[in-house]
Amino acid sequence: MKLSQLFTKTAKEAPADADSVNARLLTQAGFIQKQMAGVYNFLPLGLRVLNKIENIIREEMNAIGGQEMVMPALTQEESWQKTGRASLDILFHLQGQNDAKMVLNPTHEEVITPMMKRFIASYRDLPFAAYQFQVKFRNEARAKSGILRGREFPMKDLYSFHADEKDLDDYYEKVKAAYFKIYERVGLGEKTILTFASGGAFSKYSHEFQTFCEVGEDTIHLCEKCRVAVNADILQDQNSCPECGNKQLKPYKAVEVGNIFKLRTKFSEPFGLTYKDAKGQDHLVEMGCYGIGLSRLMGIIADIFNDDKGLMWPESVAPYKVHLIALENEPGVAKSAQKAYKELKERGIEVLFDDRPDVSAGEKFADADLIGLPIRVVVSKKTLQNKSVEIKGRHTDKMTLVGQDKLLKAIED
Ligand code: ATP
Ligand code: MG
Repeated sequence: MKLSQLFTKTAKEAPADADSVNARLLTQAGFIQKQMAGVYNFLPLGLRVLNKIENIIREEMNAIGGQEMVMPALTQEESWQKTGRASLDILFHLQGQNDAKMVLNPTHEEVITPMMKRFIASYRDLPFAAYQFQVKFRNEARAKSGILRGREFPMKDLYSFHADEKDLDDYYEKVKAAYFKIYERVGLGEKTILTFASGGAFSKYSHEFQTFCEVGEDTIHLCEKCRVAVNADILQDQNSCPECGNKQLKPYKAVEVGNIFKLRTKFSEPFGLTYKDAKGQDHLVEMGCYGIGLSRLMGIIADIFNDDKGLMWPESVAPYKVHLIALENEPGVAKSAQKAYKELKERGIEVLFDDRPDVSAGEKFADADLIGLPIRVVVSKKTLQNKSVEIKGRHTDKMTLVGQDKLLKAIED
C-alpha cells in the first residue's frame, strides 16, 4: 500500500476526548475513528489488524474442530423472554413494523440453541462445535477505555454441544488450550493469566483470560507459583489458589480478553434442545460457550505495546510488516524505493510504502514510529551512495545498512 493513496492521515495532536492510550494512539495513527461513545470506525490499517487477529483465532478454532458460520444480529424478543434475559440492561431493543419486537444480539445462545433443534435428534449427532465472527451490541452503562469496552464490537463466539458432562469437560479443556495458543500468537502470552471467575447457574467457576494492564477494570489475585488467578469478584468464596491452596495471592489490574463457560443445560432446557440416547430416551443437550472480543484484543495490544513515539505492533498482528520510506523527493531515491517496494511485494511481504513527495523526512520518521510497523526500511541519497538501504526494527535504535540486493534476505531473517 502506498501512503500517498491511503485516505487516512496521522494526527500530531491527541484527540481531546481520548480516554485511554489505545484510543489516543490508534486514532492519531489513523487506525480507528470514534463515531460516538463506544462506537468506532475501523479504518484500513485498523481493519488489517482486526483481520490478522481474526485469522489467528480462526486457525485455532478450526484446529479444535470448530465449524464456522454466521448468525444474524437481530432476534425476536420472544427468545429472550424464554430464557428470562429480556430485561437485561445491556439489551438494545428494536421495534419493527407491525409491532414486531426485536433485540440486537449481545451474544447468541438465544439464536443458536433453538436453531440446533433442527440438527440434533440423536446421540449420533453429537458432539460438535460451531463458531462465528460477528458484531455484538451491548448497551454498556459506561463505554470507555477506547475500544476496550464498546457498545458495538466484533466477537468470536464458539458454542459446543455434547451428550454428557464428561464430553463437555473434555472439550472445554481443548478450548482452554486453544485460547492460550491464541494469546501467545498475538503477543500476549506471557501477560495473560487463566483466572477463576464466577460460574453462573450450573458450574462453580467459569474461566476468564485476563491480561495484566494498568487500565484494567478488573482486579485479579495471582498465585505466582501456579500462574493462575482468582477474580476479585469471587474472592469471598475462593480466597486461595484453586490449584495449590496458596493464600498469598497478589492483586493486579487486568483486562478480560476471553471467557469460557460450561453452560450445561442452562439454555437447552428453556428451548427444549434434547437428543435420544441409544435406547431411545430423551436427554437435554450439554452446552459450552466461549468468547473472545477482537477489538478488545486489538486495544489491549495497543495499550501494552507502545512507547512515547507511538505504537509497536507484534509482527503477527501488525497491519504490514515493513514501513518503506523514500526519504527525499529525488528521482534516484524514488526509483530505488519503488524497486524495493515491488520486490518486497512480489516476495509476499506486506509493505506500507511512504512515497509521499511533499512530506519532510522528520514527518516521515515520526509517522513510521506512530504507526508502529515492526521493520522500517529507508532509501535515501545517502544510502544509495553505498548501493544500500537502511533497516531498523521498531524496538531498537540500531540501524543497519544492507546492500540493495540483500534487502529481501535481511527482511526475511
Ligand atoms: P466484561 O466482564 O468485560 O463486561 P463480559 O464478561 O460481559 O465482559 P463476555 O460476555 O464473556 O464478556 O464476552 C466475551 C468477550 O468479549 C470478553 O471476554 C471480552 O473479550 C469481549 N467483550 C465483552 N464486552 C465487550 C465490550 N463491551 N467491548 C469489547 N469487547 C467486549
Ligand atoms: Mg466477564
